[in-house]
Amino acid sequence: MKTIYFDNNATTQVDPKVLEAMLPYFQESYGNPSSMHHKGGEVAAALREARKRLADLLGADPAEIIYTSCGTESDNTAMWSALRTQPDKRHLITSRVEHSAIINNAAFLKRLGYRITEVGVDREGLLDLEQLKTALTPDTALVTLLWANNETGVLFPIEEVGALCREKNIVFHTDAVQAVGKIPINLKNSPIDMLSLAGHKIHAPKGIGALYVRKGLKFSPFMIGGHQENGRRGGTENVPYIIGLGVAAKLALERLPEENTRVKGLRDRLEEGLLQIPYTMVNGNRTFRLPNTTNVSFEYIEGESILFHLSHAGICASSGSACTSGSLEPSHVLRAMGVPFTAAHGSIRLSLGVGNTEADVDEALKIFPAVVQKLRDLSPFWKDNGPVQESSLLSCEGNSCQICN
Ligand SMILES: *Cc1c(COP(=O)(O)O)cnc(C)c1O
Repeated sequence: MKTIYFDNNATTQVDPKVLEAMLPYFQESYGNPSSMHHKGGEVAAALREARKRLADLLGADPAEIIYTSCGTESDNTAMWSALRTQPDKRHLITSRVEHSAIINNAAFLKRLGYRITEVGVDREGLLDLEQLKTALTPDTALVTLLWANNETGVLFPIEEVGALCREKNIVFHTDAVQAVGKIPINLKNSPIDMLSLAGHKIHAPKGIGALYVRKGLKFSPFMIGGHQENGRRGGTENVPYIIGLGVAAKLALERLPEENTRVKGLRDRLEEGLLQIPYTMVNGNRTFRLPNTTNVSFEYIEGESILFHLSHAGICASSGSACTSGSLEPSHVLRAMGVPFTAAHGSIRLSLGVGNTEADVDEALKIFPAVVQKLRDLSPFWKDNGPVQESSLLSCEGNSCQICN
């Protein structure tokens, strides 16, 4: 069975060119870049080249890049740095639809006594800019927002929010893990203070990330140790992975036009095809969105059952809803958008990439209608080819979710 991989927002395949560039740094060029001898020197030179490549993808200066172990570490580093460098400020602003790397950290900070504002979104997942504006206070240490939502692909107006923060002298961080490599980013002269990215979302390996920190911004390290990364992140550099991320960044820059034409075209055709299935809708604004992502709800059925049947047919996708026993709640992102629960439960995310082909879309469009029909035939909400009217079951509250159970 052929695999059709539509889960590129979860992770991507390491590009063969990335792997090839990494391999010498495990065996031949094994020196520590901090060493004075030639084995260290050759590695230090390769790191400089890799750092330059990543900086070029962002329109940044190489000195503004700090390597981390992952996107999550970058997010945590940014948040803690903003708070530690401004100990008098006790307020933090984020949104209701962030990645868990931000949401759970914010919840932790709340328990420590910080005040957290989670700005809402509208029915299309677009940021409530007015709410954000009113939330900015002299006590605000940091505004941190996703650039592109990992579940829906919807974009936030990052440059605009950055400008607002700059005006009020508030530090601004963006989690751009999903945006990097999919939309053009140029940090030169931008009001963004810090930006997180992760290697494995752009065809580098899992376990490497980076944080952009604008030159001149006060910074406090998350990982305290040696003088690596100019004293901003202790720990011997993950040399092969940094080299890999450099090549991945170069490829991402070269492939940006393809992402926004060919990949976008495949996504659009897949989406249009899926919308032919009755009682199906797209979650999120369809214009202000990443070119590779679609979040689709098949009403009256359950996301995880859809994924199970798709996987059986070779299709890898991802669930927007996490309806697990004990927490019968659909995705926090779709709930924040006010997606009705019958639709939120049946939502799945399809995220394409440069590895996908027209044949993948053709094949998927053959598989989906049958899977959806089969599950609807089993659904208590569905009878005689339509939804059951006036159902008394339509609630996700109080452990009585009839879609999940
Ligand atoms: C994947 C992802 C992360 C986490 O990155 P890791 O490298 O897995 O820690 C953070 N934010 C967003 C938006 C992501 O998609």
